[in-house]
Amino acid sequence: MALPQAFVERFGRVYPDMAQSLLPLFDAPRPVSFRLNPLKADRQKTLETLKQEGFDLSPVAWYADAFSVPYEQRDALTRSPLFENGAIYIQSLSSMLAPLALEPKPGETVLDLAAAPGGKSLMMAALMQNEGWLSVVEPGKERFFRLKANLARGGVTIAHHYMTDGRSVGAKCPAMFDKVMLDAPCSTEAKFKSFDPKTTAYWSERKIKEMAKLQFRLLLSAYKSLKPGGTLLYATCSFAPEENEAVIDKALDRLEDMEVLPLNLPIPNTRPGLSAWGKKGFDKRVGHTVRILPDETMEGFYLALLRKKS
Ligand code: SAM
Repeated sequence: MALPQAFVERFGRVYPDMAQSLLPLFDAPRPVSFRLNPLKADRQKTLETLKQEGFDLSPVAWYADAFSVPYEQRDALTRSPLFENGAIYIQSLSSMLAPLALEPKPGETVLDLAAAPGGKSLMMAALMQNEGWLSVVEPGKERFFRLKANLARGGVTIAHHYMTDGRSVGAKCPAMFDKVMLDAPCSTEAKFKSFDPKTTAYWSERKIKEMAKLQFRLLLSAYKSLKPGGTLLYATCSFAPEENEAVIDKALDRLEDMEVLPLNLPIPNTRPGLSAWGKKGFDKRVGHTVRILPDETMEGFYLALLRKKS
């Protein structure tokens, strides 16, 4: 089984200097990372229990609540009572960087506009210490109920759940939130595995174009729901510039009061957003957005921290 040829060719154009060294990363599973959930259990006790259960824990240097175990221990981890009762949550490391970049604080009003299954909502509730207001939005019925169950299991008490299309939220709730997380639906390229055909089954260049349209509408809605002075984190797990830099570039054209804030992530495997794709050159400010490069510990990701001027 191989990655789609058109994807490999595009990946080579996105990372001309690194594609050959990055492509083998799609061939092997990574260690399984997870987050301790302080809303549900004492961190130290959770760690002691995991050790007693026989897990080989590796800490993550840049985040005290994050750990990983070898891939072979994944099934055992999902069978642990700690997983079942929400004391730990399995989440990729790059995905944890999004809430850390947005920095939601206790007492703030926060919106997660594309929230299921809830990894980032759970982490934001933990960063907010369950104080404030967290609106979570998901239109898919099955995914909505999974989100609701995950947040309940994770001890989140500040969540307000809405089964609705994120594109409608800005008009319904203008200027309501201090912080907005838009972890947008995308072509999921960063999750591709050459040994698992399910991961690439729905990928096509047409899908990228469809996603880019949806992402732009969601971004406009997310932005509208922000208070002046508020910040918005736009994220995707795609490498496609159409879903990343081009969306931010188009939004900069449309939204005069939007700023792109610099992002200082605590990891070395990053690159600034691309300055061009094909014949299209992007606004200079797009260079403040960040591409997380895939490595042996984490998947690729794209992050843009945006602010509505006050
Ligand atoms: N933030 C989630 C987490 O960390 O667990 C993952 C979100 S996933 C990348 C994107 C989500 O957006 C999917 O659950 C998908 O169903 C949802 N979605 C798709 N179309 C949407 C829309 N129009 N409005 C809001 N969410 C949408």
